[in-house]
Formats: sequence, structure tokens, C-alpha cells
Amino acid sequence: MNTTQQIIEKSNRYIAGGVVSLNRKTDLPIVFVKAQGSRLKDAEGKEYLDYHAAFAPHLLGHNHPKINAAVAHAMEECWSLVGSGTTPWEARLAELLCDSVPNLDLVQIFNSGSEATANAIRLARAFTGKDHVVMPIGGYNGWHDEVGRAVMPINVGSRVSAGEYPFIPISAGIPESTKQRLHIVNFNDLESVEAMFKKYPVACLITEPVLQNIGVVPPAPGYLEGLRALCDVHGVVLIFDEVKTGFRCALSGYQSICGVKPDLSVFGKAVANGWPLALIGGKREIMELFAETDLRKRVLVAGTYNGHPASVAAAIATLEILRTEGFYQDLESRSARLHRGLTDIFGNRAVISRNGSAFCAYFMNHIPCDWHDVLENHDFDFDKRYRLALIKCGIYHFPLPCKQGSVSAAHTDSDIDRTLELTREVMATL
Ligand code: PMP
Repeated sequence: MNTTQQIIEKSNRYIAGGVVSLNRKTDLPIVFVKAQGSRLKDAEGKEYLDYHAAFAPHLLGHNHPKINAAVAHAMEECWSLVGSGTTPWEARLAELLCDSVPNLDLVQIFNSGSEATANAIRLARAFTGKDHVVMPIGGYNGWHDEVGRAVMPINVGSRVSAGEYPFIPISAGIPESTKQRLHIVNFNDLESVEAMFKKYPVACLITEPVLQNIGVVPPAPGYLEGLRALCDVHGVVLIFDEVKTGFRCALSGYQSICGVKPDLSVFGKAVANGWPLALIGGKREIMELFAETDLRKRVLVAGTYNGHPASVAAAIATLEILRTEGFYQDLESRSARLHRGLTDIFGNRAVISRNGSAFCAYFMNHIPCDWHDVLENHDFDFDKRYRLALIKCGIYHFPLPCKQGSVSAAHTDSDIDRTLELTREVMATL
């Protein structure tokens, strides 16, 4: 077995940047080599309780036996990527998805959340004949140009309402012309959304219903309803990006919790418990643009690996588990146990924001309402030290302040109790 340092050196030697997704970059000398259930093991043999869950897909825990068996079974049965016509397994998955999320009249299946958001925006543009896109600061919708604003910009300037922020790109190489049609406003700020809708020809507003890439920032009462109403008045397609919330907080997504029906929804991550699969679904009249016979109006859906049998098998097996009686109640009781325990440990040093099994400790005195609130009030330095101290004790949170933690169905009550015990010890030292 290679040592940690050897593996890191080899990756740095052959991989541009040393990691295959820059979001994964850390300055820790840790290389994980195994994962099972709620546990990770590194190249030195040290074990960790995992709350990172690879940025949240592993809702059932790593290498869940039923998901692994379903993928193995698909291979044994000679399911393959044939690339001609449809398949029985994608038909079954689509049926399960539409049945699980009532707002999905039709679906399309992709490999990643970014592909799904790119296609959702294209659909919205084709449907409305307009080009501009509005999105909140502090949200993440993937890596492509059309959503490519910085997620946690530090030099964002003071709060603007009603109005928009200068576009701070997440990457070099995003064309100026693209930036011109993207409008960045605060989360929970209906006045700014309305101002954008009045000023520009807006095709869609895309947002996570709960911001879960800067921790867990919930919508204020009435905010999502307000977005729905504004979109209706201005002929704007409302897209909920449920890549993180979907299937994790409830079988039918956060939209079933808030009761607001988006025009389109995007899901990924938890739907296939770590296998690469994402989807778009929503209103029939918009989704049918994928099937339009007039080629000038048709939106192309394409991808060699769309509906890959291994991922489809994983998604079907995952959904079958998520649909079993009591699944979400059990997950909630585990998550609430952690929430209660952490609240008790933190006292007035932090607040826990939680959406089902997704949680985040903010070292401030209230649950934030937007990125500015986090930036102005959260103790980033303390958060970083807290995460590093936990990692040292074998509790793995991604070592970047404000990253969401994820409880999985594989976390037992004793895992939670052990986490609380270690957190109490860590907090006493900080
Ligand atoms: N939307 C949201 C809300 C996400 O959290 C992510 C990934 N973190 C994406 C889209 C992009 O998904 P992917 O990384 O699968 O392209």
C-alpha cells in the first residue's frame, strides 16, 4: 500500500491541481482509501465517522449492501450501455421518480447536477424566449458558465436591496457576454428579485430552496411563495435546484415541505446514494420541449452516459429503500438526536441550522438569512479550528467553514453519542 505522502505526490505529479474536483482540495495530509456505512478509513489505517458524505450523496451510508448488490446484479444480468432506444431500467426509474415526487410530470436523466442545471436553464430559455437568469448569492448550481458565480465571495461589498451584485466569477474563462445576462441577488430578498424581473428579460430564477452550499440557510417564511408569485406575474420559469435537498430531506423534496410548486426541479446526489445520476423534472408543457417535433423549438437532450445502467440500478435500489415505511422518521430521529446534543454542548457559542439530515453549526447567535449575514457574523476562524480538531479526533467534517454536515441512515445512535462525546471534548479545548 502506498503511503499518504506517496499518493499525494503521485496525484500532484500527474493530475493538474492534484485533485479531480477543485472543491475537494484540502490542505490536510489525509487520503481516504475505504468507506463503509458511516465510516471512512485513511491510508494510515485511521478510522473516522463521516459527516461529509462526499458533499452529501451518501444518504444511506457508503457501500450500502443493497445498492452494491443492485449494481452487481445489473452487471450479472448483462445490463449494458447499449446506446440505442430506451431500456427497461430507465423506464422503471422514471416511473419511480414521477411517483415519488408528485410535481414531476416528466423527467430526464443525466449524470451530474451541473448537466441537469445547464439543461434546465436551456429549457427555460427555450420556453420563454428570454435569456437572462437570476440566482442568489451563496447558492451553488454547478460548475458551468451559466451559474458560475462565486459561492462564498469575500469581497462582496455591503448589502444591496433592491438591486444586484457585481458578478464575481467562480472560474476564469467565463465570457463577459455570459456574465451580462446573469444577475446575482441576495437570498430571501424578494424586492431584488422583482427589480431584476422588471429590468431584464428573465428566463428563469434558479435557486436551492434552502442554501446548502454555505451550510444550511433556510428560506424566510413566505419567501419561496413570493418567488412563485413573482415568477407567475413576470412569466419567469421557477427552477428549484434540489440537488442537495432532494431525497435527503424528504422523498418528494423540499418542495413537499414548503408546499411551493416549481416549474422545473433538478435533483442529484442522494437519489443514487453516491452513484453518478441527476435529473430534471417538472411541468409537462416545459419538459415536452425535449420531445418537440418542430426542430426550431426542440431542446436537445443528449449524453453518451445518460441513464448508465450501473447508476440507474443504484438509483432504483436507493428509491426502493427511501420509499419504505419509516425511513425518513428514523433518519429524523437520528438527526434530531445530534441536533439536541450539539445545541446542549454549544450553549450560546453557536447555533445549529438543520434541514432534516443536513446540518451546520454557525458560530454566531442566530440562524443566518443570507450570505451577508454569514459573512458578517459567523466566526470563520473558530469554525476552521473546530473542524480540524474534530478531524484529529476521528470525526470527519469537510475542513472548510460553513460546509454542510450530513447524517446518513448508517449512523447509529451510538455513532451520534460518540460524536457528541468527542465534540464536547473538542469544544472544551478551543
Ligand atoms: N446544485 C447543487 C445545489 C449542488 O450542491 C451541486 C453540487 N454540490 C450541484 C448543483 C452540481 O452537481 P454536480 O457536482 O453533480 O455537478
